[in-house]
Amino acid sequence: MRETAHADDLLEWYDRHARVLPWRVSPADRARGIAPDPYRVWMSEIMLQQTTVAAVKEYFLAFTERWPKVEDLANAEDADVMAAWAGLGYYARARNLLKCARQIAGEFAGIFPTDHKVLLSLPGVGPYTAAAIASIAFDQPRVVVDGNVERVMSRLHDEHAPLPGSKPVLTDYAEALTPKARAGDYAQAVMDLGATVCTPKNPACGICPWRAPCKARQAGTAADLPKKSPKKRKPTRYGVAYLARRVDGAWLLETRPDKGLLGGMLGWPGSDWTEDTPLADPPIRAEWKTINEEARHTFTHFHLRLTVKTALVPMERPPERGMFVEDLDPSDLPTVMRKALALVPKR
Ligand code: SF4
Repeated sequence: MRETAHADDLLEWYDRHARVLPWRVSPADRARGIAPDPYRVWMSEIMLQQTTVAAVKEYFLAFTERWPKVEDLANAEDADVMAAWAGLGYYARARNLLKCARQIAGEFAGIFPTDHKVLLSLPGVGPYTAAAIASIAFDQPRVVVDGNVERVMSRLHDEHAPLPGSKPVLTDYAEALTPKARAGDYAQAVMDLGATVCTPKNPACGICPWRAPCKARQAGTAADLPKKSPKKRKPTRYGVAYLARRVDGAWLLETRPDKGLLGGMLGWPGSDWTEDTPLADPPIRAEWKTINEEARHTFTHFHLRLTVKTALVPMERPPERGMFVEDLDPSDLPTVMRKALALVPKR
């Protein structure tokens, strides 16, 4: 075993232990010349932004079965895509997914660009995602640094400077190791090592292909790395949601504005979410009852406590905002809206 970390040692390990994932081409197939489908690589990378592999799998399979090619997705109705995304969170990604699919279908004749700069110009594609697509789909030696890679690099080099400040240094370490050949396999191999061996709490150093050169293993500091700067405390915001059910069972909903949190998704009419007392007029005249329990949800930057009010309304009464939706499928709602619905007693 080499005393300095080398990509070949990891690739050899990857050839035997690569995770089987629905968007992946196995190293054996790749060696036989089977290239990954850039559409599937792109879709998986967008879904994986701030979301776990376990949560993404089901959505990825549903999306690619329903819209197998980028043109299919480009032609989809916005509401169908937003509903299919419901529950996955970070809904700006779904809006960008559609925008990007339409751009690829329209401007690029359905063919994903291979140029890194052009990839970076696509909606929803930032530096990490552009590097991941260039590397995984097109085998370009781009430096791909996600949380797994940061962990592995900080441990390999026993780097104690805290994240996010240490990111440039960890990126330099990652760049130094990225090989020219098999760059796509290598990018996925480091991610797999971080996800299955060099795990956050109990790294399995005994079976790691980089155990000999790893400085944190030698120093006994692996489980303490990477260090992170203390997080700011999340504020709590408050809101009111009005859940009106018509006597025929239809629910009063509205499509949230495109810009902002949960933009373009279906939701309950209600107040803004603020750190002060929330104010909102009911969306329809009715005898509103407040449910004892709040719907609670945590977003990236704040905790939300939502007061849920509910009312039964007659058929003929028109709403002042929103529209009645018959046969509501709760899975079309974002998680926080589902939590509010779950508090309403069943009739
Ligand atoms: Fe991670 Fe341990 Fe491998 Fe070092 S030896 S890279 S700490 S699993």
